[in-house]
This record gives sequence, structure tokens and C-alpha cells, in this order.
Amino acid sequence: MAPSPRWRIGLLSLLLAFLSLLVTRTALGESRPQHQAGMRLLALLGVVFAVLMGMRSLAAVLGLVDSSVSNSLVNTGSVLASGMALIGGVVGLVLVLSGDLMALLQHQREHDSLTDLLNRVGLRQWIGAQAPQQALALGMVDLDHFKQINDRHGHSVGDQVIQHLALMLHASESPVCRSARLGGEEFVVIALGQNADAALRHRLEQLRAQFARSGPLPGSTLSAGLASGTVATFEATLRQADSALYRAKAGGRNRLESI
Ligand code: GH3
Ligand code: MG
Ligand code: MG
Repeated sequence: MAPSPRWRIGLLSLLLAFLSLLVTRTALGESRPQHQAGMRLLALLGVVFAVLMGMRSLAAVLGLVDSSVSNSLVNTGSVLASGMALIGGVVGLVLVLSGDLMALLQHQREHDSLTDLLNRVGLRQWIGAQAPQQALALGMVDLDHFKQINDRHGHSVGDQVIQHLALMLHASESPVCRSARLGGEEFVVIALGQNADAALRHRLEQLRAQFARSGPLPGSTLSAGLASGTVATFEATLRQADSALYRAKAGGRNRLESI
């Protein structure tokens, strides 16, 4: 025997209320900041719709509504609530997608596309977020005779060498140690903190030896120049590290020099 219309309406409304609460719970669980505006809107509409559907279910059980098409206050309210929820859902979705898009654009602005390391913009953004008096050590890293690698093996092999070094730099990143690709085959590693100098020297010496031993191309090496200063003197420290790098190149490459 088919259930009477009021029970059918009651059960269906209860199911919709339950589904709306599930949507609300999922939306409230979102923690990514770029999604929160859209998700809060979805959660709010989920609650409104769940309450209306709960009331409709109760009204059906009490016999106040026994047809889903009759011109009653409950049915009119339900149609309005469904329309609102649909519009709200679309707006919420648009907010979520635009949040994703903004995050993607920001990532592209601050990261290098070949290696996904910070680029110059991202590096300056990160430096700008540190306390100015914070001590820092800085290493400029540059691949040796990279033009010859491109000339002998082709540009795509050159790209692979860059990516290989970038992976090694990524592996030593932490909240107080970041790497960036400044351009071409030139990178910078920055370590923050009082003892960062010795730690960075040790890390770059390891990197140099490891790259020379197990780089993607036999014989490919890198040189590095080190300098130290504070966050406030970042630009001057970068220039000092560049001078040290120049000395490492002039001294025969595959080595570290400091100011
Ligand atoms: P040195 O040892 O003095 O650093 O010499 P080098 O040949 O490494 O330096 P140079 O500045 O003469 O050449 C750098 C080369 O890097 C030239 C350029 O074509 C190449 N290059 C720059 N960006 C890229 C890139 O994204 N991919 C590849 N494959 N090559 C690049
Ligand atoms: Mg080079
Ligand atoms: Mg260079």
C-alpha cells in the first residue's frame, strides 16, 4: 500500500533537513581561509533550509499539509526556501571557486613555475614578514658552467638539472630556512636565527658535495657565496653574498666562499 501524501511529504522533508545539516557540518569543517566566506554562506543556508524542512515535516505529520502542490503557507514557504537555498548554494560555490582562483594566482605570483620554489616576489614577501632585527645567514648558489650543459645536452636536460637542485633545496626548507630561485640557474638560501651562519655553511657544504657526487649529470657542480646580516640589511647582505659567489667562481668553482 502506498504511504499517504502527508507521510510522504513528512519523510521527504525530514530527509532534506538531514541532508542540509550534513552540508552545514561539512561547510563548517572547512579550514582553508580562501574558502571560508563561501562555506559560511553555505552553512547558514543549510541551517535555514534544515529548519524549514524540519517544520514542514512536523506540519505534515500534524496534518497541516497533505499535498505538496496545494496553495498552503507551508508549501509556499518551502518553495521560497528551496529557491533561496539554490541561489545561496550557487553564490557559495562561486565564492569557493573564486577563493581557489585567488589562492592559485597568489601562488603563481610568488613561486617559480619550473621549480615551485619562491621567486623574487615571494622571497621579498617572506622576508618582509620577519622581524627586522632578526639575524640571518644567506647563501647565493649558482650552477657552474651551466651554459655548457645547455649547449651539450639541450635545454630540457638543463631544466632537469635545475629541478634536481631545486628538489634538494626544497628538502632542507623549514619555517626558519627558505630557498628561492632568483632567475636562471641562480638560487638563494636564507636561514634565520643567531646560529644560522654555521648551520647554513654546513648545509651548503653538504649540498655542494652531494650535488657534485650524485647530480643528474656527471661533472655538474655548483658554487656558493655566503654572507650574514639581519632582516633589515637583507638587500646589502644579498650583494655581499653575490661578491662571495664571484670569488668562488674566480677561485675555480665547485666551492663555497664567504665575505
Ligand atoms: P658560471 O659557472 O660562471 O656560472 O657560468 P654559467 O655558464 O653557469 O653562467 P652563464 O650566466 O654564462 O649562463 C647561464 C645560462 O643559464 C645561460 C642561460 O641560457 C641558462 N638558463 C637561464 N635560465 C634557464 C632555464 O630556465 N633553463 C635552462 N635550461 N637554462 C637556463
Ligand atoms: Mg652559472
Ligand atoms: Mg648565473
